[in-house]
Amino acid sequence: MRIASVIVDVPAKQTDRAFDYLIPAHWIETIQPGMRVIVPFGPRKIQGFVTEIKAESEFKKLREIIEPMDLEPVLNHELLELGNWLTDNTLCFKIYAFQAMLPAALKAKYEKKVKLSLDARLEELPLQLQVAFKNDASILWEEALKDGLVPILQKEAAKGNLEVIYVVKERLKKKKLKYVIPLLSPADLEIAGNNMPQRADKQKEVLRYFVNNTEPVELRQLLSQLSISAATVKALVEKEILTEKDMEVYRDPYENRTFARTEPLPLTEDQHKAIMPILGSIEDRHHEVFLLYGVTGSGKTEIYLQSIQDVIEKGREAIVLVPEIALTPQMVNRFKGRFGNLVAVLHSGLSAGEKYDEWRKIQRKEVKVVVGARSAIFAPFENLGIIIIDEEHETSYKQEEMPRYHARDVAIERAQNNNCPVVLGSATPALETYARAQKGVYKLLSLPNRMNKRALPAVEIIDMREELRAGNRSMFSRKLFDLLKERIDRKEQSVLFLNKRGHSSFVMCRDCGYVMNCPNCDISLTYHKVKEQMKCHYCGFESYVPTQCPECSSDYIRYFGTGTQKVEDELGKILPEAKVIRMDVDTTGQKGAHERLLKEFHEGKADILLGTQMIAKGLDFPNITLVGVLSADTMLHLPDFRSSEKTFQLLTQVSGRAGRHELPGEVIIQTYTPEHYSVELAGTQDYDRFYNREMMMRKAHHYPPFYYLALVTISHEQLMTVVSATEKIVAYVRSRISNHAVVLGPAASPIPRINNRYRYHCLIKYKREPELNKTLKAILDQYQADPKSGLLVSIDVNPFILM
Ligand code: ADP
Ligand code: ZN
Ligand code: ZN
Repeated sequence: MRIASVIVDVPAKQTDRAFDYLIPAHWIETIQPGMRVIVPFGPRKIQGFVTEIKAESEFKKLREIIEPMDLEPVLNHELLELGNWLTDNTLCFKIYAFQAMLPAALKAKYEKKVKLSLDARLEELPLQLQVAFKNDASILWEEALKDGLVPILQKEAAKGNLEVIYVVKERLKKKKLKYVIPLLSPADLEIAGNNMPQRADKQKEVLRYFVNNTEPVELRQLLSQLSISAATVKALVEKEILTEKDMEVYRDPYENRTFARTEPLPLTEDQHKAIMPILGSIEDRHHEVFLLYGVTGSGKTEIYLQSIQDVIEKGREAIVLVPEIALTPQMVNRFKGRFGNLVAVLHSGLSAGEKYDEWRKIQRKEVKVVVGARSAIFAPFENLGIIIIDEEHETSYKQEEMPRYHARDVAIERAQNNNCPVVLGSATPALETYARAQKGVYKLLSLPNRMNKRALPAVEIIDMREELRAGNRSMFSRKLFDLLKERIDRKEQSVLFLNKRGHSSFVMCRDCGYVMNCPNCDISLTYHKVKEQMKCHYCGFESYVPTQCPECSSDYIRYFGTGTQKVEDELGKILPEAKVIRMDVDTTGQKGAHERLLKEFHEGKADILLGTQMIAKGLDFPNITLVGVLSADTMLHLPDFRSSEKTFQLLTQVSGRAGRHELPGEVIIQTYTPEHYSVELAGTQDYDRFYNREMMMRKAHHYPPFYYLALVTISHEQLMTVVSATEKIVAYVRSRISNHAVVLGPAASPIPRINNRYRYHCLIKYKREPELNKTLKAILDQYQADPKSGLLVSIDVNPFILM
């Protein structure tokens, strides 16, 4: 008798354990640990993961597995174990842990098919399959099950003749975008332009644009780039000079691309010193965590590349994590350039199908390296030789939903299982990381110099309060304005950086101060210019933009805040000659837009690149000689103990964008709090001093890295219910924890109400509490076991956001 332990897909307290099922005789050869199966559960049929196969069970009456869902296990042994680790360490349901490791295509809604591999020969397949595949290169999984083909399919899959593919069932709605296309040749456009009357200067400008750009261009982009209205384009369409067309633009960003091969560079002495311990760890199959600490441009990536090369030569595999926004084509090129098609890329810009394809390459061992964002840490490699986390301080490595894991912790766990090194790279390491390196828990490797020996750019901090006193109400200081103008005259490029976080463009009445808030959440609505709408970022509530104040009927109700759009508008007024490319969530929403805008900037099609944090990364163009930070301190005032650290990191990173090549760079940081140490020290790019200052603060306030944190957030529709439940939880935690720990609460969360639910929390600061996880689990169990109470309890062990 063969019995399978199955974790079923019912995320609830009562089902958060393995259930035993009998494996029917005809599936005994087929079903293996790590496969997904369909099992009966109560009256339903549901999915589950087989975690173990055993000979007996303590339960008597077992039901039978209905059928397998995979030809090969989707989780290997190590990942199954890792699922247990994730469950224990992040206090999530096991089913969530397993699901987090798989690409979305494996999570239902997709039609499963079995397809002949490219090099499979039909006539060499067993007769039964020849019949099945006679008319079609793929058959539906459902049919295969019905016809009892799965065991044979499995054998052929093992030989590489077949593979499983997923086809999106309801075709995901692909957004079509309106494009503008010239109908005339450049020469004729020029003639048409010359024949137009003087006053049609806008139309002439559009024609001039198409004389130089024959490619179709997205309408919205054209409008913003030329600062024209849709009517201008419409007029030209009516004259049959241009035409508009809806086009689908999506496709595999790396397809049809050849990557220029690069060779390893002879390492500098510093690089050599830094790489030796890493190579030693690879050679000895010895787990160790390295912090590769070096400013941007100090040669870290070259060290990653050469370490990976060594790993590949030893027949092992490598995972490289890069923050999502840094996963730019430039970054991908460097890995593809060195290792060609041995590299898979995983990031959120890929469609579910594309992601599954990349994942499958890993699973089938067709690649040796995966470069990807956070979830790539679960790449199903079986012989890991190194894990690299670039920009390891980035907060995007923490997942903010279940399982609430930090990729760094998962990396270290996997590297331990695989006896391999972890390399954490950063110019501004997370405080926790640097502290561990100081204590010798991690090994510190330093690259003190930039490769090109260029001095870091000169940074000047401008006090915006002084500007105001001098009568300058613009969002540009006089100095920044002068420098911008100078760059335009010299045909050099500038980057303007708007620290958008903590800022929203809200609508306020100038007469009575009324601010438009979300009716469901205690937070102001954000103004969206493109759609002329007010929107809540927490619950999605949308509303019209008022033209009159609902409180006092004043007409002076305007939007405030400095969104990128507003900056762009102002630039248009004060520097009308400047060509501006704006990069923010609005202009980079579609796939490939990010890349396209950067390319345009690189090609010199604009003088100024204006954007949010997404431009802080990976921008390495020779012609950038000025970086301006418009509002350095907007993040400092967030209720977040990491806000100083984040400000310092961001400012340092942005400053590094200037003068990376021959031309020297200048950086202007505008701020209302020039005296704040994270602004001041970013000015001198002095990480060590910043580290010491910030460590003092953290120590004084009992924050990481001196203390660990755990955050319990409780929400309910009734305020009284939340408060009393939180009181109970706080009391319970206090009773179970030593008096070295600090338990704070009940306190209202920084966002006290979201979607009509009041939110309270309990914050625990502790150093060593071996029993804490059990206590927290008990709290979760109690509330999850009683859904009728309406209370939602969520627990974040090592929270990054205290909202
Ligand atoms: P980081 O990852 O720290 O930003 P990179 O590895 O990208 O640094 O190096 C910065 C620049 O220096 C890149 O253009 C890279 O090609 C170049 N570079 C790195 N190492 C060497 C080397 N040993 N010899 C010559 N050029 C190098
Ligand atoms: Zn008013
Ligand atoms: Zn809301």
